[in-house]
Amino acid sequence: MGRRRKVLYVEDNAENRRLVRLILESEGYEVVEAEDGSAAVESALRHTPDLILMDMHLPKLDGYEATRQIRKLPGFTLVPVVALTANILKADKDRAIEAGCVGFIQKPIDVDRFPRQINEFFADKQSS
Ligand code: MN
Repeated sequence: MGRRRKVLYVEDNAENRRLVRLILESEGYEVVEAEDGSAAVESALRHTPDLILMDMHLPKLDGYEATRQIRKLPGFTLVPVVALTANILKADKDRAIEAGCVGFIQKPIDVDRFPRQINEFFADKQSS
């Protein structure tokens, strides 16, 4: 048995945090949380997650800026950062990709599809 995959979930809404933690833990992931953009950067450094789920609307630093800063950390060029956003306009997606996100999951999340969506981002990473 390998080490459990660790997910850093960045979200300022407590209800969302509770829901997503429940889903991810029931799928066997270890979950670390951060409530704002600057806590996300610190938490990434401290916990070295295998994947980061990033809400884009956050206090202090927004998700775009937090992603840019995380991307610059040593060892974080390949860690997938997945944007969680209610904005589905192409301009918003372009902006997230530009900041360093590898993909999107739309909010509100679809509880049934969510585990598979997460797993696909890990699967991409493992193909190397
Ligand atoms: Mn938010």
